[in-house]
Amino acid sequence: MTNPNSPWRLTYTGVNLDRAASIRPVESDVERLRVSEAARVLPIWNGNHLFDIHEGGARFISSGEAALLGGSVLDFIFLGLANQTPWFALRVYGEEAPDHPEINGVFESLHPRVGSLDADQAAMLAYARGMVLWHANHLHCGRCGAPTESRDGGHIRRCSDLDCGYRAFPRTDAAVITLVEHPDGQRCLLGRQGGWPDGMYSVVAGFVEPGESLEECVIREVKEETGVVVTDVVYQASQPWPFPSSLMLGFNAKATTTDFAPDDDELDDIRWVTREDLASYGEMGDETPGPKLPNRHSIARMLLDNWRTQK
Ligand SMILES: [Zn+2]
Repeated sequence: MTNPNSPWRLTYTGVNLDRAASIRPVESDVERLRVSEAARVLPIWNGNHLFDIHEGGARFISSGEAALLGGSVLDFIFLGLANQTPWFALRVYGEEAPDHPEINGVFESLHPRVGSLDADQAAMLAYARGMVLWHANHLHCGRCGAPTESRDGGHIRRCSDLDCGYRAFPRTDAAVITLVEHPDGQRCLLGRQGGWPDGMYSVVAGFVEPGESLEECVIREVKEETGVVVTDVVYQASQPWPFPSSLMLGFNAKATTTDFAPDDDELDDIRWVTREDLASYGEMGDETPGPKLPNRHSIARMLLDNWRTQK
């Protein structure tokens, strides 16, 4: 869940799901749930979910329908129990998106569609996506290179070389994302990467490195990308971001310097922005020219909205 001090429920969080980790190692129990009539399956092909052609919402399918999409038992991933209903993700193979007449839907990317989903559905789909992508990227043992096999309802990939036996667990890459306030308290720091959608600005973000605390990462990333020195790093909230495998950890920090002197060229533009400036920024997808706020479903936006309405 999000920080209880936050008035927002962050997108991709908060689904009422019992992950039922104790069931995962018991193969027969997972299988019993998988073949039950109550089972709901979220198929994922090439990172894309199945959406209803007509209604626009996400589609789940039954185990029987899932069989039409091919794959093996080991391509199912047990996600957990929602009010006793077992949920599974299914990795679907193939160069082309499956187009079976009984699977009434179209495979599309989650994030552009998220505005049309209810919050629980969005969180469940993000979980499923993160798991399926982890499987797709860990088909071989990172230690010896032999193929790996899915175990524990899809929550372990075990090396098939018994002498090695390495077990890999689903991973999440920690990334910090930070709203930096100017020493005068009236402005915050925004940047823009060249590859982003036209006009979009956001707060500073970057991946945590080994041997680094989250606070140290915030200080390093802001310095590298902008040259600004920060202090008073305070945690705000977190958001799973399975595009493909991040956990965004949101912070506020205070700047002690104001000049821009980036170490790298990750940002094409850096600026200090007032609350009034932010109020004039457009929304993603606007036809209007000029700067735009990050997507409403991102923690970046939550940090900015929190700051903008703070004083
Ligand atoms: Zn191995």
